[in-house]
Amino acid sequence: MKKPLTGAELNELIAGLNKLSRNLWWSWNQEAQDLFQRLSPRGWQNLWHNPVAVLREVSEYELRVHLQELGFADRVRSVLRDFNNYLNDPKTWCHQHAPKLHKNPVAYFSAEFGFHESLPISAGGLGILAGDHAKSASDLGLGFVGVGLFYREGYFQQAIDTNNWQTEYYNPVDPHNVPIEPVLDVNGDRLICTVEIGLNAVDFQVWRVNVGRVPIYLLDTNLPENEQHFRDLTTRVYGGDSTTRIMQEILLGIGGVRLLRTLGIEPSTFHMNEGHAAFLTLELIREKMAAGKTYAEAQALTKPECIFTTHTPVEAGHDRFSAELMNYALQRFSTQLPVPFKQLLGLGRVKPDDEHEPFCMTVLALKLSRAANAVSALHGEVSRHMWQALYPDKKQDEVPIGHITNGIHLLGWMKGSARQFWRKKLTDIGNGEAKFFHDKFGDDWAAAVNHAEFWEKMTDPNFVSDEELWALRYKLRRELIEYARRRLLEQSQRVTQGDYVRFDRLLNPDALTIGFARRFATYKRAPLIFQQFENIVKLVKDKQRPVQFIYAGKAHPRDDAGKRFIQQIIHLSKHSELTGSLVFIENYDIHVARQMVAGCDIWLNNPRRPLEASGTSGMKASCHGCMGFSIMDGWWREGYDGTNGFAIGPDAHPDNVEEQDRVDSANLYQTLTEQVVPMFFNRDVNGIPREWLKRIRRSMATLVPQFTTDRMVKEYTTKYYASR
Ligand SMILES: *Cc1c(COP(=O)(O)O)cnc(C)c1O
Repeated sequence: MKKPLTGAELNELIAGLNKLSRNLWWSWNQEAQDLFQRLSPRGWQNLWHNPVAVLREVSEYELRVHLQELGFADRVRSVLRDFNNYLNDPKTWCHQHAPKLHKNPVAYFSAEFGFHESLPISAGGLGILAGDHAKSASDLGLGFVGVGLFYREGYFQQAIDTNNWQTEYYNPVDPHNVPIEPVLDVNGDRLICTVEIGLNAVDFQVWRVNVGRVPIYLLDTNLPENEQHFRDLTTRVYGGDSTTRIMQEILLGIGGVRLLRTLGIEPSTFHMNEGHAAFLTLELIREKMAAGKTYAEAQALTKPECIFTTHTPVEAGHDRFSAELMNYALQRFSTQLPVPFKQLLGLGRVKPDDEHEPFCMTVLALKLSRAANAVSALHGEVSRHMWQALYPDKKQDEVPIGHITNGIHLLGWMKGSARQFWRKKLTDIGNGEAKFFHDKFGDDWAAAVNHAEFWEKMTDPNFVSDEELWALRYKLRRELIEYARRRLLEQSQRVTQGDYVRFDRLLNPDALTIGFARRFATYKRAPLIFQQFENIVKLVKDKQRPVQFIYAGKAHPRDDAGKRFIQQIIHLSKHSELTGSLVFIENYDIHVARQMVAGCDIWLNNPRRPLEASGTSGMKASCHGCMGFSIMDGWWREGYDGTNGFAIGPDAHPDNVEEQDRVDSANLYQTLTEQVVPMFFNRDVNGIPREWLKRIRRSMATLVPQFTTDRMVKEYTTKYYASR
């Protein structure tokens, strides 16, 4: 019999669990998540898979008893050991490639960060990318701090009313119940900083998100000493009007620099993720002028400190403010900058003296960065064209905007059952190939799974057999379908016995499952495929070769056109021949995204080219054996090689948008019926689609290791961060 743990041992484990719960490292570590899930399976499911909330749900008595259970304390110890080894690893990639950044880190400013469903402070792809950037910065041991805003009500929750119209509601985020910590000063009091907004000095407090080894600081103006409208400034992601927006951006950019100075952090580079953060350049100029530099000198010194990533060719995605609004919002701040306000306005204009030109945050960022980049090769071309007027003496291809293609944080996106599958592959030492990886990476399976060599093995049937791979696909598809049934039942709110039966019949685990989930921005054209309605009905009704669709996504609260797209799709799902084979899962978030990219067979992406700067959701699919089915836009143009998924149309697009919609919808249908459906249903005697699996193997081997933030952050580091 094992001796019971002593009180001191219990205290140590409980302290360890508490610390672990407030570090998002758990969000990409399966064993850590399993611990919390085990403590309260239902709490885990209902509280957004949030360890902090689970620990508050479980009393100290219960926790102590649990820890005495056979084996549980050993598992806790083992996870805490891995956690500490991770935090203190002295041999990271950056120790070798960017050691200087540990003293002078990269400060990464972003208006949104999407880390995990329990912290809903992101509106979509931009935030998710920022979150994944931070996770990989941590994995690589990069000297890195993030700066963002703490939105007390986060991004909205979506509900659909009886007219199938999207409505929005907000769940206040309780700071004590999510994986963040208050930032304190040396006396242990709340750290308070100040930023000038309008005529006022506005105080803000700060929350820290621990993302593995890196801190992200979230600014929060909700303090009793502030006037109410300033307290409300950080209520919602992109909430309010352009006045709210400019004030949020002043807080982020100017407040963010103030915070870093207060914390004694001296960044070597300020990285502006999108133009939202570009006011930080004004604060850097102010600091230098306060130290005696002229305006020209201060600008010249600020530029080498900054880099800028632009994220969209969509015009509305570039913030523009009128001169009046600029004047109003910056009036007190600008008194500290001994420069005529007209000159400041010129920093945000292509033609500095054109009084009719609004102030553009992207222009400000471009003018005050030593380097700028787009997020895919095509987006680089489009951006150089878009901003050429800023560089009148340069030809278009000389415009200084490069590109680094986006990626995803692989382990963070891998669904639990896929992680288990790959992990088993890597630890099954009887398997010769597994031994190869073990000899190379030891027990560090996370290192192996991030390595290109691992994914290259996917084309080798001795490493993974067709049968295993197909079984994984079935497992993931069924998990998604059962998840969708549960969600749709909840959505229906009409819980009668009859409905249970109906919901349990919804969707077909044998059908080719096509997924589409992302923001319902109109350029993404969610309902495009239904332009071929009669044809799609035929596909869906084919008993031998059934096809089905799962949709999800939120429209911006003020985007009625996007809401009409949602309405149209939900209407079809309820009242057409597609009922039962088309579902819309409400309230898209990171968790829904993970279920969908894992369970679908095909990930549909049909934006109006070239407006999808990169796109990342398709990247999340590959490691699960879900393949891309996409317009040749963004990352897919670089990823697709003819053997690793499916392309819709050629690497070109018509100028006229009506023409484009027509051509793309025809191409979509053609690829679907001539390639995708026949290949999926071409089975051998055991029901295995050999050709399809060959394609999955190719997509894993060629796409998974390439489109990660591991690769992306390394590129940022060698190209930009480490060059200073
Ligand atoms: C990945 C992701 C996105 C981005 O999807 P795209 O297809 O690249 O637009 C948006 N929202 C959530 C919740 C995501 O997980």
